[in-house]
Amino acid sequence: MKMTPTISTQNFFGTSEAALQELFSEWKFEAYRVHQVFTWVYHYHSRDFNAMTNLSKSLRSQLSEHFHFALPKIQQRTHSKDGSIKYLMELNDGSVVESVWMPSESRKTLCLSTQVGCRLNCSFCLTASLGLKRNLTAAEIIGQHIAVNEELKEEDRITNVVFMGMGEPLDNYGPVVDALRLMISPQAMKVSTRKVTVSTSGLVEKMKAFQKEDLSINLAISLNASDNATRDRLMPINKKYPIEVLIDCLKKYPLKPQRRHTIEYVLLAGINDSDADAERLAKWLKDVPCKINLIPFNGFEQSEYRPPSEQRVLKFQNYLIEQNFSAFIRQNRATDILGACGQLAAESASVTQDPMSQVVQ
Ligand code: SAH
Repeated sequence: MKMTPTISTQNFFGTSEAALQELFSEWKFEAYRVHQVFTWVYHYHSRDFNAMTNLSKSLRSQLSEHFHFALPKIQQRTHSKDGSIKYLMELNDGSVVESVWMPSESRKTLCLSTQVGCRLNCSFCLTASLGLKRNLTAAEIIGQHIAVNEELKEEDRITNVVFMGMGEPLDNYGPVVDALRLMISPQAMKVSTRKVTVSTSGLVEKMKAFQKEDLSINLAISLNASDNATRDRLMPINKKYPIEVLIDCLKKYPLKPQRRHTIEYVLLAGINDSDADAERLAKWLKDVPCKINLIPFNGFEQSEYRPPSEQRVLKFQNYLIEQNFSAFIRQNRATDILGACGQLAAESASVTQDPMSQVVQ
């Protein structure tokens, strides 16, 4: 049977387990039925409630009346020389966001977006130029993963997820947490908590709330400067949550054994890449359980910044290693297709097709 979504039906993708439990109890169905439906949808990829043969007819018809299945529609794929693919995703109101699939020998990582645009206005980030258009729903967040996975060959399916695309995940708190719960739930998308990383510019109050969610996923923090004056200039959020407040939050943040935070540090020539910067950075991070990812700046046309020379990047890294930090230079992926960190801005893409999201059954 074909399901036509109407305004009154809800997208099943993104509906939380808790919300479904509540609904099922209202409908007088057992709680374990939720897991049965999840298994059909997320493990067997069924998009038709009527085919869910271990459910009663009445539950199947209740579900069909209340829910439809909608995914973001892949509008365009851009292939990078390094094998990465940038996906332009069209949402049901015609907005577009980008997701980037990055293959390596050991993993296939999807970098996904959490907002259309962003309101944090970091001066080195292209997404900032869009401003915030709107938050994504939980369905639109996990939908990027499901839509990309559906078209990949078995051996290319996504193993790791990074919330490092367009937007600030913790500025879209509720939907991001709902999406994460569905992603890591063994009943739903079954992604290991070790393989999911949420990157934040350091919204300290939200980080405190987030740690209480007890999701055990990895957190990456975009530090990007070693002193407050520079960080104020690069990331205006620093005026609200300066470096000392952010570092204090990280020191108190409970971590599971063997886990560390990731500190991201975008290297900008002549701005934050000096020996003195490396020394100050090491001081700040002295008692923070972390590894450091150094990201040489990825340029774009309108930018006033440049990446440092390779020699400078290596010297910066070496100093940190001498101080006993694990410091990595993040290999830039998909730079040739503007698919790298801070290069995502899907605004210019013209939407020519029917701006309804793809409805599958
Ligand atoms: N808002 C979140 C996630 C999106 S940005 C955050 O701030 O963490 C993901 C990462 O890309 C951040 O570490 C950010 O500092 C970095 N980044 C942004 N623009 C960049 C650019 N042009 N070159 C390199 N890294 C960039």
